[in-house]
Amino acid sequence: MQQQSLCPGPCKHIDELAPYVPGLSIEEIREKYGLSEIIKLASNENPLGASPYVQETLKRHAADVFRYPQGGNPELCAAIAKLHDCDPARIVAGNGSDELIDLLMRTMANPGEHNIVCCEPCFGIYPVQAHINRLEIRRQALNKDFSFNFKALLDLVDDRTRLLFLTTPDNPSGYCPSLEQMRDFASRLYKKSPETLLVIDEAYMDFSPDEKGSSLLANDEELPNVAFLRTFSKSWGLAGARLGYAVLPIKIAEGLWRARLPFSVNILAEKAALAAIKDRLFREETLKAVHKGRQWLLENLKSLGCKVWPANGNFIMFQLPANSLSTQECFNTLLKKGIIIRPLGSYKLPDHLRVSIGSKYENMKFIQALKSCLSEKNE
Ligand SMILES: *Cc1c(COP(=O)(O)O)cnc(C)c1O
Repeated sequence: MQQQSLCPGPCKHIDELAPYVPGLSIEEIREKYGLSEIIKLASNENPLGASPYVQETLKRHAADVFRYPQGGNPELCAAIAKLHDCDPARIVAGNGSDELIDLLMRTMANPGEHNIVCCEPCFGIYPVQAHINRLEIRRQALNKDFSFNFKALLDLVDDRTRLLFLTTPDNPSGYCPSLEQMRDFASRLYKKSPETLLVIDEAYMDFSPDEKGSSLLANDEELPNVAFLRTFSKSWGLAGARLGYAVLPIKIAEGLWRARLPFSVNILAEKAALAAIKDRLFREETLKAVHKGRQWLLENLKSLGCKVWPANGNFIMFQLPANSLSTQECFNTLLKKGIIIRPLGSYKLPDHLRVSIGSKYENMKFIQALKSCLSEKNE
């Protein structure tokens, strides 16, 4: 049949979006290079895997999947509120923090009227969801040292700015401003534009060496214009279950609940999270493994001549020694050895790499492989 000139198609702003290109899967790489073992240090997942207690709980609740989850996830929200010692009415759970980022935009901002502000580079979901929601997006370049240019960010804000996104500790750099800097910025923002919500994405905050000294949430500071995002994907080991949450001013939380699809958090994700919260030992072990592994990797990357950035999350951003192989060559060579890390081209940082903190064994294999990449080049 001849192609009709008039037929249904996506809106122009969706059509012009670059398709999401996922990395090669573990299976693809295993087959392509004939490898028996693949080590994935590309997505900042939990180095210890999933808690055995969570796995057991999921098995126990497998028979419940025919039921709808309870609307509003009250048990889960109560457990999360307890973690932060806050009012459960401030919590909204979502299908990953990704869903909450989208929900915040749909709930807070109107296309053609409002704008959102974020950094460049930043977590890719903020600008992409803004585009999908047809919102004007204003971006402020990071400083050369990857710190936030607070003054310039504030200059981008006007009375039509509804959301301003900051990630602390930042991905991919690891940069984490101090509590005082964040508090000061929130109050300046409030003075300039009281209707702008500062969204602080704390996906990696629990890995920070000094959570109390860096997180407004950990200090229980309830500011009228600040929202926090946290996730079960990293330190809780539930990336595949898709569960994130926001801690918000109550009025905004109510709006998000109205706009959220009724059952976006599924019944197994909810059970998994409740079990993860109970398994305190697994979480302590996770945090310990990340702190130790991070220190070990930082030292070893440095001793290989790499430039490393201060790491506050469960990942390290680094550059290869000058006059060694290119980042792309390094990434490809590691891949052939069965080790997947993250090149940062999509963050417009083609000379930088990011590696997640893995288990002791994975970290050691990565450093061994990197060492051999660098020495092969010198032969
Ligand atoms: C990993 C990550 C998240 C978590 O996203 P989920 O949708 O909860 O898996 C959020 N923000 C940043 C900056 C991240 O790197």
